Amino acid sequence: MNSERIEFDAVVVGAGLAGSAAAMVMARGGLNVALIERGQKPGGKNYFGGAIYTHAIADLVPDFMDRRPPFERPVTEAGFWFLGKDGLTRMTVQGGELNADPPDAFITLRANFDPWWAEQAQAAGAFLIPKTTVVDFIREENGQVTGVLTDRPQGEIHAPVVIICEGVNNILTQKLGLIHRDLEPAQMALAFKKVISLPMETINARFGLPDDAHGLAVSVLGDVSLGLPGMGFVYTNKASVSIGLGVMLDTLAEYRLRPYDVLQRYLDHPAIAPLIKGGQLLEYGAHLIPEGGYRAMPKLATDGAMVAGDAAAMVNALHWEGTNMAIVAGKLAGETALEAHSRGDFTAKVMSRYEDRLSEGFILKDLKQYRGFSRFLETHPQFMDVYPNFVNGALGQFFTAYGKPKKELFKGMLGSLTNRRGLIKAAGDIVSMARSVMGW
Ligand SMILES: Cc1cc2nc3c(=O)[nH]c(=O)nc-3n(C[C@H](O)[C@H](O)[C@H](O)COP(=O)(O)OP(=O)(O)OC[C@H]3O[C@@H](n4cnc5c(N)ncnc54)[C@H](O)[C@@H]3O)c2cc1C
Repeated sequence: MNSERIEFDAVVVGAGLAGSAAAMVMARGGLNVALIERGQKPGGKNYFGGAIYTHAIADLVPDFMDRRPPFERPVTEAGFWFLGKDGLTRMTVQGGELNADPPDAFITLRANFDPWWAEQAQAAGAFLIPKTTVVDFIREENGQVTGVLTDRPQGEIHAPVVIICEGVNNILTQKLGLIHRDLEPAQMALAFKKVISLPMETINARFGLPDDAHGLAVSVLGDVSLGLPGMGFVYTNKASVSIGLGVMLDTLAEYRLRPYDVLQRYLDHPAIAPLIKGGQLLEYGAHLIPEGGYRAMPKLATDGAMVAGDAAAMVNALHWEGTNMAIVAGKLAGETALEAHSRGDFTAKVMSRYEDRLSEGFILKDLKQYRGFSRFLETHPQFMDVYPNFVNGALGQFFTAYGKPKKELFKGMLGSLTNRRGLIKAAGDIVSMARSVMGW
């Protein structure tokens, strides 16, 4: 054997949410694991809304609260805001399920969370290799993956199993032939956001939060994305607000829209601007979200390799669920690698047990169920325009005393819908919406 040959029991590509989860599981199972990250440190290149879900974290680190994770605020109020041309209707929920202990979700910033998450993998024994990009695979003649090639001099790292957790730019997944096409603009949303700093007390007052133990996470529909398929979001951090939106990439290209202009238009909306007034810009960035759903997923395993998280299009866009899918998929891939080691068999037959594990839990079930939703907003633009404006207008009318008989009021409210969308078509839209999320 060559003395310079670097060997591990397993290699994980990417120390994001999926990658550190996979590395944690395998290291705890006694494997010698290399966790390779192209950024200066984990999280350095990562970006999200966002809220991270505790069920997934607790699955791997049951005592996570004792380990002081760098969360901003728990999500204690969540829901939808419907933005009309000059108004806003809020449909949010507080209490109930959101009062759980620990909370269902925490708002966080990835630059803080990812290093902590990777530390949990390192504490379990995984070996983090930052500032290193995996550029290709080492493969045997029969195609079996037996390691990776990195951009370092003599950058070969050998291992009988490789877990690809490279995120949305799934170059390696393509290289391995697990998916036979480049990223398709119709299956990608480009999300852009600003983090705007404000004093904690100002955030609490403006968003109606009693203190920093309360946080708001909302999806914003309507006059956010010029009536085009897209959705906005607002998350309250401790002393900043994360605010942004995602628009399908093909739509941006078709209408020749500049992301920054769309975002700025949203931030200048008369119902949004006062919420962030006087704040200082801390961060501005953009990131792709793989929203193609089940139909856009690659093959999940092959001889010696598996793919997890965004690289495998594991995102439920309507619910903003991607972090939990990445963590749980990483864990299941790690468990499959442990099984392969115990059997001494790294062929696709054993690797495909990963897909069996995924099928048993929520990830594949949800992605299958929501398979029709990825194009729903594109084919039903009225949900971006007609209905949010109707909700705003109708509620505004309902709560206004015009000094006219109420019969006229209701006629006017109904008219504000039927002028834009006939009742039969509106009923059809509701059925289509139900079908797309129920998977009928
Ligand atoms: C704006 C926005 C808002 C979102 N909001 C939410 C939300 O509120 N809740 C939610 O659950 N989800 C949300 N998501 C989705 C969520 O962020 C992703 O689903 C999740 O981050 C996927 O995790 P991952 O580990 O698969 O990929 P990533 O987190 O992207 O990690 C991939 C890692 O691999 C590294 N890497 C890539 N290529 C290589 C290589 N060749 N060599 C070495 N390292 C490599 C990267 O640097 C990175 O660290 C949001 C996404 C966006 C963009």
